[in-house]
Order: sequence, then structure tokens, then C-alpha cells
Amino acid sequence: MEITQETAMPITQETPVVIIGAGAAGLTLAIFLHTANVPCVVLERRDRAYIEVRQRAGVVDARGVRMFERWGLADRLLAGPVAQTIDYRINGVGRVFEIAGDDGSEGRFCTQQMLVNNLLRELIDVRGGNVQFDVTDVTITNEEGQRPNVRYVQDKQEHVVDCSHIAGCDADRGVSRASIPAGVLTTISHEFGYAWLAALVEAPVVEHPIMAASDHGFVAQLPRGPQRSRYYLQCELSDGPEDWSDERIWDQIRLRLQDDTIENAAALDREVVPLRSVVHAPMQFQNLYLAGDAAHLVPPTGAKGMNMALYDVDVLAQALVSAVRDQDGSALADYSATVLPRVWKYQEFSAWMTDTMHDGGNATQHGVFRQMIARARLDDLFSSPLAARLHSDFQRGMA
Ligand SMILES: Cc1cc2nc3c(=O)[nH]c(=O)nc-3n(C[C@H](O)[C@H](O)[C@H](O)COP(=O)(O)OP(=O)(O)OC[C@H]3O[C@@H](n4cnc5c(N)ncnc54)[C@H](O)[C@@H]3O)c2cc1C
Repeated sequence: MEITQETAMPITQETPVVIIGAGAAGLTLAIFLHTANVPCVVLERRDRAYIEVRQRAGVVDARGVRMFERWGLADRLLAGPVAQTIDYRINGVGRVFEIAGDDGSEGRFCTQQMLVNNLLRELIDVRGGNVQFDVTDVTITNEEGQRPNVRYVQDKQEHVVDCSHIAGCDADRGVSRASIPAGVLTTISHEFGYAWLAALVEAPVVEHPIMAASDHGFVAQLPRGPQRSRYYLQCELSDGPEDWSDERIWDQIRLRLQDDTIENAAALDREVVPLRSVVHAPMQFQNLYLAGDAAHLVPPTGAKGMNMALYDVDVLAQALVSAVRDQDGSALADYSATVLPRVWKYQEFSAWMTDTMHDGGNATQHGVFRQMIARARLDDLFSSPLAARLHSDFQRGMA
């Protein structure tokens, strides 16, 4: 008999923590809780195959590496070479910048896809963790003074999970933040006024990742595996992927990097990403805690989005462990106040990088004054050891 929502009784279960979203934030939170023997259920609307191939970030910063080391998981979850350098250029001329700190801590070129795959393998295949894929109709009950629950539908069967705490790790368009009543959150946002065309290409990686300002707009090349690179090209907000043929992509890469020797290769995918910064605060309401893109967005220029998500769940996991295992809810009560200062530091760094690398190139967006200021900042970065040290500390997430 086919089970319908009208006829079938919901299947109920109980767990201390429900995590909505199996992205970088949700899966990392789940493995931390698992490591601390705190049970949890992860609910994900996509299937496993889909999230295994989703490409995004490329670097786990030094703070993130230390975090995985502290939880005893770095060896199993992180892979890829150490991230040590960036080749910064203006109109083809620039300098390879060392990202190294006196404390010896370094980031890793570990793509988000690689990290997510390692998390899935460790959490589900090795440890038997509870991750439910292909769920729909996720609804949250989170009333003052009541035990919360999360309802969802899977294979036409309704489920109810009674819990003590809910982690909203379902990114910007998920249900978690949307479940918070109007007027509770304050949203602070900034639009940069341009977008990036992000194209994944099958091409040999360059020795150093490139970030380049040019009179024709920003371009970056970042490694995404031994034979793959992600190119980013500044474009109009009104552009769609269909406006960027392979031919146009490579013509613009050659022009912006001032390098005629670069050869065309097929772009495997392309998307247009508007550059914006957003913070929703406080990052908690009753028994719901927001983490990652559900709470904040940064432009990808500083490579901090995933790293902010990892920071949030590091703090959240420790607070949940104290609350569930030690019955001490004080760190959970302070969760938002604890993470927001670092969220704003990462916002500041990302906005600085975005303004500097875009204004320093094409002056049509913000004028020649902002162009010259941005070039002076880059000059400072290249010539002042103090500025270089500060930049490196922010880049590594150690400031
Ligand atoms: C083109 C691009 C390049 C980027 N480059 C970098 C970079 O270089 N460095 C960096 O640090 N960051 C980068 N980022 C940002 C980074 O990818 C995000 O900040 C990061 O994915 C945030 O992790 P998250 O877990 O919060 O969200 P996500 O990884 O988006 O995970 C959210 C999960 O929730 C699921 N979900 C959504 N709605 C529901 C629902 N209703 N029910 C159940 N599940 C749901 C989604 O399917 C998804 O699996 C980039 C982003 C983009 C788009």
C-alpha cells in the first residue's frame, strides 16, 4: 500500500541535536558532535551523489586546520598541499606574496568538495552516523518553553524528530532562518555592484594561485585539483552564464592577465555569483542556532565563506557538548555573541580584498580616486613588511 501523508502516522524519534543541511557547516558540526559522543540527526534535501560533486571553496585556512587538529580529525579529513603563496598582479605585473606566519600554522588547498566527501565517508561509512538525504517539507517547531521538534517527509513518509537543540546549517535559502519570526533578526548587508563569472576548467594548475586587478576587470585562477582550476572573471550583475562562451572566457583571461600564451580549454561549468556581504544577527533564537551561510555571506574574494562556517560550528559544537553532556547551557546562550566578532573580522577582510582587487583595476565602477587608493593599498602590501604580516595573518584566519 502506498503511504500518504494523510493516512500514515508520522515516524517519531528523539535525539539531542537536529542539524538541517549537510554542507560544510552541517557535516562538520555532526562529526564534532559524534567525536564528543553527542548523538545527532542530519537532514539534507539533496541526495548524497549531488552533494558529493558540488564544487565551491578551495582553501581551509590555518585557523580551520588547527581546529580539525584540535578535534583529532585533521589527518582523516584534510588533504591537499599547504597553501603558502598568492600571485597578486595589476595589469599583468605583480608579486608572489608569501602567506606564512611566525607560528608555523598554514592553510591547506583542500577543496570544499574534497572536505565534504571526507566528512560523508567518515561520518556515514566509517562511524554509521545518521544523515537523512532527499528530505522535503522540513518544518521547525521552536516555541518558548516547549521542547522543539523538526518534521520532514522522506519517501512520502512523515517523520518527527523531538530534540533539545536545532542547528540551522541550510545556507541562505534554507528553512531555518526563515522559521524565525519577523523582527527578531537584524540584517546588515552590502552590495558591491558587480558579479563574478565562476568557471571550472580542465587545465593545468599554475604554480601560485593568481588574483589580478586589470583595466578590463578582475580575474583569478585558483587550483581545484591537479588538473582543474576555477577561474573567476568580474562581470556585470545582469550577465548570465549564457553570455559567457568558452571563446569569450579565454579572450578575457588572456586580456586581463596580459598573457597571450594561455590556451583555450573547455569550461566544465559556469555560474554568475553576485558579490555581496550579509550578516543576520543574533545567530540564535530560542533553541535554534544558525551557522555558516544561513547566518552570513561574504564575497568569495577573501576565500572566507567556508572558513567562517567552520568557525561557527567549532564554537557551536563545543557549546552543544557542554549543554548536552554537562548540562551547562551558558556557552550556548552566548553562542551568537561569541562568534559575531570573528564574523565581522572575516567580513572586513573580505570587503577589503574585494574593494582593493576590483577598484584597483577597472575605474568605471567607482572612479579613479578609488582606483588610486586601491593601488596604494596593494603597493603597501608589497613593500611594507608590517602590512604584509597583517594581511597574511588575516588571510590565514589567525588575526
Ligand atoms: C562560486 C563560489 C565560490 C566560493 N569560493 C569560496 C572559497 O574559495 N573559500 C571559501 O571559504 N568559501 C567559498 N565560497 C563560499 C562557501 O562555499 C560557503 O560559504 C559554504 O558552502 C558555506 O557552507 P554551509 O554549510 O553554510 O552552506 P552549504 O555548503 O551551501 O550547505 C547547505 C546545505 O543545506 C542544504 N539545504 C538547503 N535548504 C535545505 C532544506 N530546506 N532542508 C534540508 N537541507 C537544506 C543544501 O542542499 C546544502 O547541502 C564560495 C561560494 C561560491 C558560490
